[in-house]
This record gives sequence, structure tokens and C-alpha cells, in this order.
Amino acid sequence: MSVSLDDLPLRDDLRGKIPYGAPQAALPIALNVNENTHPVPEEVADDILDSLALALREVNRYPDREFVALRESFADYLGHGVTTEQVWAANGSNEVLQHVLQAFAGPGRRAFGFAPTYSMYPLLTNGTGAEWVAGRREPDFTITPDDAASQVAEAEPDVVFLCAPNNPTGTPLGLDVIEAVYDATQGIVVVDEAYQEFAPHEERSALTLLADRPRLVVSRTMSKAFAFAGARVGYLAADPAVVDALRLVRLPYHLSALTQAAALAALRHAPVMLRMVDEIVAQRDRMSATLEALGYEPFESWTNFVLFGGVEDPGATWQALYDQGVLIRDVGLPGCLRVTAGTEEETTAFLEALASVDSRP
Ligand code: PMP
Repeated sequence: MSVSLDDLPLRDDLRGKIPYGAPQAALPIALNVNENTHPVPEEVADDILDSLALALREVNRYPDREFVALRESFADYLGHGVTTEQVWAANGSNEVLQHVLQAFAGPGRRAFGFAPTYSMYPLLTNGTGAEWVAGRREPDFTITPDDAASQVAEAEPDVVFLCAPNNPTGTPLGLDVIEAVYDATQGIVVVDEAYQEFAPHEERSALTLLADRPRLVVSRTMSKAFAFAGARVGYLAADPAVVDALRLVRLPYHLSALTQAAALAALRHAPVMLRMVDEIVAQRDRMSATLEALGYEPFESWTNFVLFGGVEDPGATWQALYDQGVLIRDVGLPGCLRVTAGTEEETTAFLEALASVDSRP
């Protein structure tokens, strides 16, 4: 006899919820989850393997629960005076964000973000038993400081997520919005900089705002620019007191010795790991220009993906591309689809497949 969720003593607040579910289909051109489609460079892969081999010899012991060497290494990479005590890490920035919510949200509390934004924020929030409140953006998905501050003041959240630049729209976020939101709440303000490395190099990170803002958290990931999605490594910088709060909710030894060793080795080669970023940005910009030439409406993007409008039937176009072996993402925004910038060949394959599908209104 098969049992369904309804037959189980599931938490009432989880009934009817849908899990994260981007399709994982084995298609030749997979541009749907904003991965870095360039593999880890050979010389770095060799060094990572050597480090893993050493770590494996001691895998009978629990790993360093405080992952100090890795935190030091992230502090070095981030710069801006960030210290080891200010750094935290976990299995992907999803787990980092979950730790923040476990410590600062939870039953009877509220988290807030400007929709459309990263689809995991509401799921992670509800997972801790907290309520998710969605704010609004302008029609072009930007947010102004005044509007942001008044929406946040009204919602009175315990945690605010500012995705900068934003997924799934690619939209940049001004530091003035972050400052205004911080001043409009007593809650924790998380700036999710998962895609920061793809922004113009001269643009300032929210890391520059950390001083004197003990409720500000800047999260990053190795999944995108570092081409390390499969290793599951995310991290954040914040006041050391915030890091102390996260220690209360993490599982002991949550970062395996193998994960720590792999991430440390990859970080030793940060410039090589990041060398594809400029190439990916070039493909992103080529994609935007070609989409426009094809009559679509790409939104400005500071990430490794492009959201484009002007699609008459997103479901049908998504399927037509799928049938040609190209996987992109229907993020549920009317008239829009989202595509990750791939290698030059992958990007060309996507653009050619799209050109062969007539899906403009
Ligand atoms: N934040 C944003 C905005 C993302 O788009 C993603 C991944 N798509 C994540 C966080 C999580 O990434 P990871 O858990 O792989 O670090």
C-alpha cells in the first residue's frame, strides 16, 4: 500500500508546499541553473586531488569543527579588511542562508524579500517555521531606496534578503538601497552576492558596508564564479557576533574534511579558478545583444545569466529548445525565460536553436 504525504504526521505549515525542483535532465546543452559550465582547470584539479588524498588519510577523525584554515582563506579572498572571525561557511550558500534563518527567523518570525527573487528564500524561511513576506519591484525589476525602505518598515521583518545582483532577473542593486533597508529595520539584512564576481569589476561590494553594521550579512558562494557547484561550498562575512549565533544552529562538523580540503585547494588557485569569469561575461553580453537583435527584450544583467521578455508562450519555447537538446529555465514570469551564459559553443547552440523557434508575439 503506498502512502502519500497526507497520510503522514507532517507539520501543518509544510502541507501543500512544493520542493525546489529545477529539472535535472541530461541534455547536451544545460543552461538552466546558472552553473559555471567551464570545468575546473586541469592544474587546479590535480592540486585538489592531492589535498583530498591527504585529507582522506585522516578521515577516521572528525574534521576541524571551526574550519579555521578555510575561514582564513575566505577572509583573504574577500579582502576589505574582513577577518577570520567574521567568516562562516557551509555546504553551499543555501545552507549558509538556512543557518541565518535558523538563528534569526523560526516560528512566529518573518523574513522578507523583493519578488521576483531567489526561489529558495521562501522555502528556507518556511522550513524554519517562519513566515515569508514578498515585497514588490518596479516593472523593470529595479528597487529604489525610498520604496525599499518603506516596504521593509511596513513588513517589520526579522530577516531581509537582498539578492545583489538579483536572481532570476540579473538586476543590479545599488548600495544606497542596502543602506536604506538597513536603516529601516531592526532585523538581519542579508545581501546575497552569489553572482558578485560577474558584476562590473569597478562596482563596490556590500562588504564595504560591513563596518559599524552588526546586523549586515554578506553571503557568497563558490558555485558560480569558482566553478565549484558540485563541491557545495558557500560562505558569508558578518560581525563576529552573528557568526557566534550561527554556531548555535549548525550541526557539529557540518563541513566535511573532504569539502574543507577541496575548497582550500581551490582557493589557493583563486585567480585561475576565476579566469573564465570575463569570458562568461562576454558570452552573457553577446547573448543579450543577440536576443535583442532577434526581437526579444533582455533585462540588464550583472550575473552569469540573462532573463529575457517578449516570449509569447514561454512553456512552448522552453519545450521547443528542450527538443533541440537545449535546457533553459522557465522561472514562471509572464512572457519571460532565463538562460545561463555557457561556453562560446554552448551559447552559440542556444542562440541558434532559439533563432530557429519563432516565439515572438
Ligand atoms: N543565492 C542565489 C541568488 C542563487 O542563485 C543560488 C544558486 N542558484 C544560491 C544562493 C545557492 O547556491 P549554492 O547553495 O550552490 O551556494
